Amino acid sequence: MTTENLKFPLITQHNAEYPREVQAAKEVSRLLTKVEFPSQDVWVDLRFDYALVEHSSSNVDVMLIRGQPHGIVRINLQALYLMQDFESMLMEVIPHELAHVLHGVKAKVDGFTIEKVHDDIWQHLVFKLQPDAEPLPKVKGEFDDRAVRLSKGGILIQCECGEDESFAVIANTAGNSAKLRTEDHKCGTCKFPYHRVDGQTLLPQRIKDDLAFLERIQCIKFQHPHLQR
Ligand SMILES: [Zn+2]
Ligand SMILES: [Zn+2]
Repeated sequence: MTTENLKFPLITQHNAEYPREVQAAKEVSRLLTKVEFPSQDVWVDLRFDYALVEHSSSNVDVMLIRGQPHGIVRINLQALYLMQDFESMLMEVIPHELAHVLHGVKAKVDGFTIEKVHDDIWQHLVFKLQPDAEPLPKVKGEFDDRAVRLSKGGILIQCECGEDESFAVIANTAGNSAKLRTEDHKCGTCKFPYHRVDGQTLLPQRIKDDLAFLERIQCIKFQHPHLQR
């Protein structure tokens, strides 16, 4: 299967390849159809990005020509989370992110500046897209970002909570390293200071599985350049 064979109405470009990516792309296309998104003039570029720490992000780059929006909107979805909690990605994350895109286009057309990204207009747009979604600034969902952070060079740390919960990953910065040395970085739950874990032998199986998945994807995308971006 190659992405060239897959076409979704209202999506101009995409890199959907796996079954859940394809299903997510279908949902994006379905919701955009529902709100009559002007996809002839505003191209939708949908990317499944395995390096994204957030569940999603978007970028609106449009200008007005005779009062109508023209340009490109880019929607990024973390595809690892499609494996972890498919339901929340479809029902919460996709409407959440699409509402940001619609909000951005609307601001351009109606000539206003967005003060708060999760304002009443945004909430209304979420509701319009998916009446069952909860318009919350922070999406509920069982997303585990630790493997993504590790694959980006983060530091694996551990507290005294025990089991899976005691592992966290923080950015590899001088400030964080210093905090770990002086035991100033404490767990909010058990109150013990985090310490650095060396090697990945202790990693909970869940994070190991996610890491293995990310490595496999990277190999596949490396061999198929059209999937890289
Ligand atoms: Zn948001
Ligand atoms: Zn703890």
